[in-house]
Amino acid sequence: MGIRVKLPLISLIVPVKNEEDAIVPFVTRVTRVLDGLREPDGSRVDWEILFVDDGSTDATLAAMIAANQVDPRVVGISLSRNFGKEAALSAGLDNARGRTVVPIDVDMQDPPEVIGEMLDKWRIGYEVVYGVRRNRMTDSFPKRLTADLYYRAHNYLSADKIPEHAGDFRLLDRRVVEVIRQMPERNRFMKGLFAWSGFRQTAVEYDRAERAVGTTKFNYWKLWTLAIDGITSASTLPLRVWSYMGAVIALFSLFYALYLLVRVMIYGVDTPGYASMMVATLFLGGMQLLSLGILGEYVGRILVETKHRPIYVVRQRIGAPEGEE
Ligand code: UDP
Ligand code: MG
Repeated sequence: MGIRVKLPLISLIVPVKNEEDAIVPFVTRVTRVLDGLREPDGSRVDWEILFVDDGSTDATLAAMIAANQVDPRVVGISLSRNFGKEAALSAGLDNARGRTVVPIDVDMQDPPEVIGEMLDKWRIGYEVVYGVRRNRMTDSFPKRLTADLYYRAHNYLSADKIPEHAGDFRLLDRRVVEVIRQMPERNRFMKGLFAWSGFRQTAVEYDRAERAVGTTKFNYWKLWTLAIDGITSASTLPLRVWSYMGAVIALFSLFYALYLLVRVMIYGVDTPGYASMMVATLFLGGMQLLSLGILGEYVGRILVETKHRPIYVVRQRIGAPEGEE
């Protein structure tokens, strides 16, 4: 083992995509906060910031390298292309060395001041301390509404309940990190993985600020895709519900057939019936397409999983200690 760098107590993992202007303010503010933290014996807390450059096309990587030269506690990895925030977080979890790991956004929407509070909860025995947003007033009304609907739908459909209005900002004990690292799936819907892992979990409240610099990397279509990923990875109810639908419709059509039979026997044959035919055909056609689509969603996911491709590819490391892989 030889001379060993003391393992940091806290690793911040920070996915960044085109955030050249956000790196310096983030490092400055976080350094001030983390340097203020103390161990129970009064000594300074050891920490590292691990940036994960998620295929940035601007000067983000250069900013990371510069930050590492100023302070070697700032390290980073750069992925070979944009793999998405969830994959970048996986890369962060795989490369963080801390006894606790805190995924945090670079845009200061997650206030680093809360980390001290999270650490206190961890010290009294919680393995997961997630940040819950006190209010979503910094979000637009449609975003609040869709987020709300999403959490409800997810928790209704899935057995692993995700805490409402908790983002990825949380403190994870090393043991939780190891559990998540062992999950083999390509589909990295982090909130779902965190929820599945269990352990003693608690919340701290915080106010989510406005984005400090740069622009959001998520539009509604991306959020919708993320929501689908979340639900299909955590629940098979959308698949199974169609058998019940089918059974109910079949039952109805049986009664309808009986009714028609009786009517024909009493009143004789009458041809009109175009409207009811049309309604039945369209309704069933729509249902079939919908259920086929949902089947497709799941089959597509199986395909992705069976390829066993890596979740991300590292192109370059910045300041990672030697011998660490
Ligand atoms: N991000 C990333 N890869 C992506 C999209 C986003 O690493 O493909 C990072 C981004 O740089 C930021 C964090 O994920 O640090 C959260 O993104 P953003 O602030 O745009 O999301 P929002 O807060 O608007 O939901
Ligand atoms: Mg943000």
